[in-house]
Amino acid sequence: MDNPPTDTPPPLKRNSNDVGWEYGVLCDARSLDKVKCKLCGKEFSGGVFRMKEHIAHLKGNVSACPVSSKEDQEKCKKAVLEGKNKKNLKRKHEEALRAEVNISKDSGTEELERELGALKTPYSQGPIDQYVSSINPEASLAAQTRQQSIHDAISKEKTHVVRQYCSRWLYHTSIPFNAIDNDSFRLFCEALGQFGPGWVPPSQYQLREPLLIEEQQRTKEKLKILEEEWEREGCSLMTDAWSDMKRRSIMNLCVNSRGGTCFLSSKDTSKDSHTGEFIFNYIDQCIEDIGADKIVQVVTDNATNNVAAAKMLKQKRPRIFWTGCAAPTVDLMLEGI
Ligand SMILES: [Zn+2]
Repeated sequence: MDNPPTDTPPPLKRNSNDVGWEYGVLCDARSLDKVKCKLCGKEFSGGVFRMKEHIAHLKGNVSACPVSSKEDQEKCKKAVLEGKNKKNLKRKHEEALRAEVNISKDSGTEELERELGALKTPYSQGPIDQYVSSINPEASLAAQTRQQSIHDAISKEKTHVVRQYCSRWLYHTSIPFNAIDNDSFRLFCEALGQFGPGWVPPSQYQLREPLLIEEQQRTKEKLKILEEEWEREGCSLMTDAWSDMKRRSIMNLCVNSRGGTCFLSSKDTSKDSHTGEFIFNYIDQCIEDIGADKIVQVVTDNATNNVAAAKMLKQKRPRIFWTGCAAPTVDLMLEGI
């Protein structure tokens, strides 16, 4: 579901130490592309980089600012040059890093690969041959077995080296180990393998903006199928509260239907007292958002405040059932034994 709209729009002045923002502001706070010169009032696309070119009289992409002083021009020219140098250094650093990677050398399988090459019948190499080793069908049985065992040994050693790279990344960035028990991660590994060498990872900006927006859109498309099902067959609303690792009290709402369970919303309720009325208001608002006619039942645990909320729900919406969740009920029964 959409996040509730915020009352205050993001500021036009950027919270950044880039020199360009001393001379310009954003035309629209939601886009970093369109900027307006504070000196001459000219508006143009290209963000803060283009603003510095405008002030510095660096021609080619944008007209020169008629108002900027010699001092302003020098300041922005220096910033553009420094930016370019920084970019070049970063590119060189990345190239050097990539050149360091040689999994044949790291795994010590170069010798085996040479032997495997000698066992194979010479034939013209295509682009895919650098990634695979075929078993020569015309070789003798002994040679075929030898080829297979060399192939397996190389594969095992190289797999180990790639795993070392993967684990180092996880350790250096403190990513929880369970992040790899995830289909998305496996799909990513497969896609990367199919791409081959030279893949360029996304920048932080790409992750934060365009890729995130695309993923949100993709999720919304998937949810549409579930929403149609809620309309057709009805759904259950489920809510629970717990404390996270930072001891914040979190309350969430999920919707369940035949197609599966989907997360609807959550909120930090550390500062609120979890009275029956508070829980009722949270649930009732969600019922309103989804559409009361689509909801068959509301499922919560049997805590006193939830039971109080259930009573209020029954009064306002007598058509919707309230059901105590079976899992905590069984848990309480077993605790009593
Ligand atoms: Zn200007």
